[in-house]
Amino acid sequence: MGIVEEVGSGVTLLTRGDRVVVPFNVADGRCCNCEEGKTAFCTGGAYGSSSVARRRTVELCSRGSLAVFGAGPVGLMAGHSAVLPGAARVFVVDRVPERLRAAEAMGCISVDFTECDAVEQIIKVSNGMVDRSIDAQAIDSRGSSEQPNVVLEYMIRLTRPCGGLGIPGLYVPSDPGAPDTAAAKGSISLSFGKLLEKGLRLATGQCNVKAYNRYLRDLIIAGKAKPSFVVSHEITLDDHIG
Ligand SMILES: [Zn+2]
Repeated sequence: MGIVEEVGSGVTLLTRGDRVVVPFNVADGRCCNCEEGKTAFCTGGAYGSSSVARRRTVELCSRGSLAVFGAGPVGLMAGHSAVLPGAARVFVVDRVPERLRAAEAMGCISVDFTECDAVEQIIKVSNGMVDRSIDAQAIDSRGSSEQPNVVLEYMIRLTRPCGGLGIPGLYVPSDPGAPDTAAAKGSISLSFGKLLEKGLRLATGQCNVKAYNRYLRDLIIAGKAKPSFVVSHEITLDDHIG
């Protein structure tokens, strides 16, 4: 706290005599997060005492963007729900060609994670990190041989400071088929330091269906939502039993 005694040639926002208060984490006042008052998460490259400021992340704004990991019915519906109200960019990450084609058909950008680093690819295409990411993997799609935290780590890397992670994807308190003893007890290793550094919000749990079902029903009746696009095959009950 103090009074400006002198200003250098690069200073544009202050003049001599101004009373100022400087927080411990320096912010530029101009980036997306600063404009929203979230100056602890300045992405403008300011320096400060904490690791938050040291990272000097240069992030371009990419508002209204979403990445969905997993293109099963839950992931495709999540993408559909973001496209409907007009999200700028919706990425859907999977490895099954039919699923990726279904995502593209409804206006999403498909990313095959077997062909690239999905996080790097999305950051390149959208010129920055996404606002929100969703873990829409079914538990069996992770497979017992894979690390259970892979997608959560992708989401932490890919989501912009002050963005949000949605985790409806299934994690259970006890999983006897898990690849290690921690995961078997429902414990998953996470880059929690990075989560805090970026100020990410995290929502999880099952869906509060009754909060949305009438609204969604009316979107279907009005012809705006067409969830039937997720049906790829039709079989009779006899076929199934056979
Ligand atoms: Zn800033």
